[in-house]
Amino acid sequence: MKGLMMDCPLTVTSLMRHVNAQHGASEVYSLTVENPAHRSTYAEIFKRCAQLANALRRLGLNRGDRVATLAWNDYRHMELYYGVSCMGGVLHTVNPRLFPEQLQYIVNHAEDRYLFADPLLLPLLEKMHEAFPAVERYVLLCGKDALPESSVPGLISYEELIEGEDERYDWPELDENTASSMCYTSGTTGNPKGVLYSHRSTVLHTYASGLSDAINLRSADVVLPVVPMFHANAWGVVYCAPMVGAKLVLPGPRAGDPEALVAMMNSERVDVALGVPTVWLGLLNYLDASGRRLETVRNLVVGGAACPRSMMVDFQARYGISVCHAWGMTEMSPLGSVNAPTAGSAKLDDKALLAQRLTQGRAPYGVEMRLTDDDGNELPRDGKAVGRLQVRGPWVARRYYRAEESALKDGWFDTGDVASIDSNGFMNITDRTKDLIKSGGEWISSIELEDVAMTHPAVSEAAVIATPHEKWTERPLLIVCLKEGASAEADELIAWFEGKVARWWIPDGVRFADELPHTATGKVSKLKLREQFIAGGAAAS
Ligand code: AMP
Repeated sequence: MKGLMMDCPLTVTSLMRHVNAQHGASEVYSLTVENPAHRSTYAEIFKRCAQLANALRRLGLNRGDRVATLAWNDYRHMELYYGVSCMGGVLHTVNPRLFPEQLQYIVNHAEDRYLFADPLLLPLLEKMHEAFPAVERYVLLCGKDALPESSVPGLISYEELIEGEDERYDWPELDENTASSMCYTSGTTGNPKGVLYSHRSTVLHTYASGLSDAINLRSADVVLPVVPMFHANAWGVVYCAPMVGAKLVLPGPRAGDPEALVAMMNSERVDVALGVPTVWLGLLNYLDASGRRLETVRNLVVGGAACPRSMMVDFQARYGISVCHAWGMTEMSPLGSVNAPTAGSAKLDDKALLAQRLTQGRAPYGVEMRLTDDDGNELPRDGKAVGRLQVRGPWVARRYYRAEESALKDGWFDTGDVASIDSNGFMNITDRTKDLIKSGGEWISSIELEDVAMTHPAVSEAAVIATPHEKWTERPLLIVCLKEGASAEADELIAWFEGKVARWWIPDGVRFADELPHTATGKVSKLKLREQFIAGGAAAS
């Protein structure tokens, strides 16, 4: 027997309708290059979404077409989030920090037809546009007057594009499994992979991320996502804040500037802010140095990389701010777990409580987790057994965009993280199997760096491992064996990477070894290298 309840598709459009009806007056404060304090409301933003959708229809956007953005967190980017997805297009958020070759691959692989870019990224566009043959139209996220002379063909301003368009749009009733947005993530080897979110996965993820034991958002809250809107949907905050009616504060191009963040947090009375450890470490250092305080923040959500112990302790002790540790992945929309206390946490002494708070936390309903050994046998959730962390659920990717094969094994997605899970469900990441380094919240591929090092005529074997770094969490360290009779200085090897990879990928240092340790299967043993070259041997990769 089937239930007899209404069959209402879970779409971003239905979310927009709800926000319009319930929270239309809630504010969105946003920084842009042109405007240090742009204020609007959800209702105003959605009117402009309709204008954008009308403009895109005029340009010929069809259902399923991809629209790329190279943009910071601001209100126009948010309009693209809703306008494109709700008209049936696919919003493709592109990370402007990627190396040109990766950008070229991503935009062409996605076959983006339109590209919207922040004015600060115009130089990048000017350098790259010839490499994007499928892009028919470039739009700069600014007003008519702010549009500079440019070599990008047909470039127009966003305001010019939507000017005069109807503020109403007959939003289509989409099937809830329609694709809504996409984001590429670095693969360990080979090219980046596209994760294609659906309306349904987005709505379910939005519900879960707002829960009290997740990001815990309320209508009266003010939320600041420092995490970029080009990285896994800014952890879903651009959907979740409107859903509950919270005010949104978008830092535009100033997300990496602690002074600007503190000013914004205090003037806009921010309650909750979200970002990677590097951002919060920068903020902590700035507070310590300037003597300033955060007047209203109650919760800093940290994820994307492990939260350093000292950061959690110092924010609490010096500023009375609680740091909440979360874990996720682009492939998980991204929320996988959040650390919130259980009833049992109150019984722990200070040391045990801190240890618990430093774990990556517990999975909300919608994410199932399990641990396996290398042969796929499930391991106990006893807080001791350490194994491959696998997940499944309605907002976890099952296949990458245009990939032939499923991304799953036995119905589970292998995260590439290595963890334990205790009997209360607290998951603790201890290592990773993927050969990647996470620096400032962004990935660096060890394998790609090794490939570049191996092209140096003096190098016979090379390995790159992650070393712990106070500011960036991890940085790459190159370990090389030289060919017999060959010589090369460390500086020369570092210089070898110039122009071959993004500047921030270049290893911080070089160590020389007579030979590299190998595993039984002949692979370089990164574990042994870490033991050998890093004090404590703790960092992953
Ligand atoms: P991304 O898809 O770029 O968001 O990266 C996801 C990966 O970042 C995860 O699989 C982890 O390896 C790492 N990661 C994310 N959050 C955390 C965290 N809180 N602690 C440790 N690693 C994390």
